[in-house]
Amino acid sequence: MELTFYGVRGSCPCSGERYRRVGGNTACTAVSVDGEPPLVLDLGTGLRTLGDVLCRTDQPLEVTALLTHLHFDHILGLPFFAPLHDPAAVLTVYGPPQGGASLASVVQPPFFPVEMADLPGKLDVREVADEELSIGPFRVLAATVPHPGTTLGFRIGIGGTTVAYVPDHQAPPDLRTVAEGVRRLCDGADLLLHDAQYSAEEYRAKPTWGHSTVDYAVRVAAECGVGRLLLFHHDPLHGDREIGALLRHARRLPDARRVGDVSVAVEGMTLTL
Ligand SMILES: [Zn+2]
Ligand SMILES: [Zn+2]
Repeated sequence: MELTFYGVRGSCPCSGERYRRVGGNTACTAVSVDGEPPLVLDLGTGLRTLGDVLCRTDQPLEVTALLTHLHFDHILGLPFFAPLHDPAAVLTVYGPPQGGASLASVVQPPFFPVEMADLPGKLDVREVADEELSIGPFRVLAATVPHPGTTLGFRIGIGGTTVAYVPDHQAPPDLRTVAEGVRRLCDGADLLLHDAQYSAEEYRAKPTWGHSTVDYAVRVAAECGVGRLLLFHHDPLHGDREIGALLRHARRLPDARRVGDVSVAVEGMTLTL
């Protein structure tokens, strides 16, 4: 299994010198195995670059994406996903129910000049709640995660390898306990991509803004017996230097001794498991 990171930022895309190393595009990761179309995790601005990569193949696109929720930073790449200009392309998106709103209803005028239905390719949106799915060769578990609005995390397995994806997760006030759904997603995973938006000090000022501290990301990984943690969904306030300091802090935490490796998700990076 190979993971390629096209966007690792949270909340808002960023540009400038201080984001050069870690990158400024919002959440989008491609999970691939040989000979299969990739499974895409979230449709943030990184999806535009992934679309350019996929356009280079001769095959018509038939891709599945797992969407955690409809916040802008997770969907903003969708209208710029070039493969959907091919009438033979199909993008299937599994995402949580949103009480009447839908992906198609947020990508339309006046927010975007074209309705998704008017693009030549087909967008097939399917609602998914707490359940297990089979998508091509992947076994997928979807589970609800604490975050404003209905939000999912995903556990993706193929062969004996498991990746847990929890990019937006509001840490509990005690910064210790782990929600049942999160535990089911992360338990024994080889790799966890987890919300690492805040320092402890920033969290104290924003405890209800829907995110975790770096310390809590390490805590979840340790409690769930995760092999490797990648800090993900970086705050726009954090440039490369601040993220480097947060990583050094994370690696010094007592909980980090219970995790095989703690590192930072970086845009453009490919990881083989
Ligand atoms: Zn987000
Ligand atoms: Zn969110």
